[in-house]
Amino acid sequence: MSKAATGGLNMQMPDERGYFGEYGGMVLPPDLVSIMNDITANYMEIKENSDFINELTRLQQTYTGRPSPVYHARRLSEALGGAQIYLKREDLNHTGAHKINHCLGEVLLAKKMGKKKVIAETGAGQHGVALATAAALVGLECDIYMGSIDVEKQAPNVHRMKVLGAKVVPVNQGTHTLKDAVDAAFVAYLQDPVTTMYAIGSVVGPHPFPMMVRDFQSVVGREAREQFLAMTGSLPDTLMACVGGGSNAIGLFSGFLDDPEVEIYGVEPGGRSSATGDHAATITYGKKGTIHGFECYLLQDDAGEPLPVYSIASGLDYPGVGPQHCHLKDIERVKYVKASDREALVAFYDLSRLEGIIPALESAHALAYAIKTAGQRSKDDTILINLSGRGDKDMDYVLAHYPLEEYETQKMLF
Ligand SMILES: *Cc1c(COP(=O)(O)O)cnc(C)c1O
Repeated sequence: MSKAATGGLNMQMPDERGYFGEYGGMVLPPDLVSIMNDITANYMEIKENSDFINELTRLQQTYTGRPSPVYHARRLSEALGGAQIYLKREDLNHTGAHKINHCLGEVLLAKKMGKKKVIAETGAGQHGVALATAAALVGLECDIYMGSIDVEKQAPNVHRMKVLGAKVVPVNQGTHTLKDAVDAAFVAYLQDPVTTMYAIGSVVGPHPFPMMVRDFQSVVGREAREQFLAMTGSLPDTLMACVGGGSNAIGLFSGFLDDPEVEIYGVEPGGRSSATGDHAATITYGKKGTIHGFECYLLQDDAGEPLPVYSIASGLDYPGVGPQHCHLKDIERVKYVKASDREALVAFYDLSRLEGIIPALESAHALAYAIKTAGQRSKDDTILINLSGRGDKDMDYVLAHYPLEEYETQKMLF
């Protein structure tokens, strides 16, 4: 594997205040700004350091199992009767999703900064499990803040985190869910920012996290570009990825942003209905606002408070979105579209039946948009999808809410 496909964390930089266009920044009290500046300074130094790059690359290859393959989904493509579908198989990573990519980077940074502990919030528990894994790997303590309702609902992930040695802290304030967990984790972090590091779970939060998490995820796009060229002799015509906070999407996109011939789609969760607000399609329906220390498109009420959001895929239900995505929307480099719960569920079964790959419900949103549009394209067209994770975690939920019999009596592929 060439250097370009493994090292090289040098992507588009935000400005010196941490903005991508109008979005991002550090909308924080001064003491937190200085903590973030310290993390930025350490990161900027470390990312040029060959020991750090080599250690990260070693773990990516021997621990995560990188590079993840690019797979030509021939039966799915044939069934769609249009564009050829390719999958970047992030579901095959250790822990079953792309989140391990940035968690490894974050714990290595924390370790180099002499921290003893990483802390984070988690909603469904996916970020908590990935971080607990990475913390166990390098020998850091790990505290995961989780709304007490989520602790109840996500028992298997709570057990995983505990087995991995993390402390799960139930949060009993506000709505007892993700937003309150973020607030509680920030309070805990402020009490001890010297020996702990907050490890954010997507390309969101204050600068430098959107840049840093993006850089750690960019290995996906670098690999995919090289693999796709080697397989087909050209670049993909189109990329698609689901967008929650936006980390798996920006990871893939960043390998192709400088190739204007590659068309790029970010797929947001359309949920049950746009009319009743039962969705989390932030870029589609939101407007500029502030959440968790940064500026972005935001689903908000008239007072600027984040609205409750909903998606069948719990990894996608965040009312904000990464600042670089907001900028890419404004400059029209990336198109943001949506797929509904229902479309994602059908795609979940379709990929399972046609390819023997059970996707995460999050990733199924990107698949759903490809399934919906591939038939309108020529058979020479190619669509590369980031398959961000595997669907084992979603099995019980899907079978309870959309039984097999119902799928089998419907026409497949919508
Ligand atoms: C968490 C998660 C997502 C959503 O997060 P992004 O930061 O938008 O990538 C997508 N897919 C899977 C499998 C996840 O676990």
